[in-house]
Amino acid sequence: MSTTDKRVAIVTGASRGIGKSIALRLAGNPASPGGGRHVILVSRSAAPLNDLKAQITEAGGTADVLACDVADAKALAQGIEETAERLGRLDILVNNAGITKDGLALRMSDEDWNIVLQTNLTSAFVAIRAAARSMMRGKFGRIVNISSTSGVVGNAGQANYAAAKAGLLGLTKSIARELGGKGITCNAVAPGFITTDMTENLPQQVKDHVLGLMAVKRLGVGEDIAACVAYLTSDESGFITGQTICVDGGMTMC
Ligand code: NDP
Repeated sequence: MSTTDKRVAIVTGASRGIGKSIALRLAGNPASPGGGRHVILVSRSAAPLNDLKAQITEAGGTADVLACDVADAKALAQGIEETAERLGRLDILVNNAGITKDGLALRMSDEDWNIVLQTNLTSAFVAIRAAARSMMRGKFGRIVNISSTSGVVGNAGQANYAAAKAGLLGLTKSIARELGGKGITCNAVAPGFITTDMTENLPQQVKDHVLGLMAVKRLGVGEDIAACVAYLTSDESGFITGQTICVDGGMTMC
């Protein structure tokens, strides 16, 4: 028996940047595709999540806070399972939390390799495994993994990050094949250059270079990614699965 009529969506890395935009979009206007969800806000520290919950509530939406380090597999799985049990349902999972530890591969430490793989890739597998049972029970599920164009075309200085993001694409397709018959879709969104904390400290030279590669002559914003995620998590996107959508202003076109 579920305690809410709304579809329940978990969004990791919701405290800022792209994840915050996704959470606001999913919790927002119920009349728009993918909107009107009860959103579970996940990231490490509770304070920004509580602020976001207040913002969502003030706008007429609903949300809960789950402060959790996604690199801690046990805590993440437990948090998701308890949430699904408490609310009686879990419909949508957006694996967005991610970090960078950039450096040339030949100089990269084991620590920087492992923490990026754990945070950006293993966490998505753990979250999907924890969420899938509830989705199967409800005969409905929408999973979106936030990858990166670095995972699609590679990027010098990001061997760990690109490997994790490419790994998400294989995970996405395998889950799509395993769970498609249960009403569950799984897709990946690969953002290009989006203005957030993750990218704001990059040198202007890099930003100018990236801008030069784009067909749409502007840098992306979180809402560009959120719009795509809203559609992929909506009820009407049920025939799209196993796909990678590059939301990158036409930078890669792959
Ligand atoms: P930000 O650095 O702005 O935000 C990252 C989010 O992830 C924060 O909410 C952070 O919260 C959370 N997070 C990080 N580590 C953990 C952890 N161990 N446990 C729980 N939460 C964690 O990044 P963006 O918004 O820019 O990026 C979001 C996603 O989009 C990432 O997966 C990134 O790789 C991807 N992406 C971003 C691009 C860009 O140009 N910005 C391009 C391509 C992909 P807290 O620190 O409070 O835990």
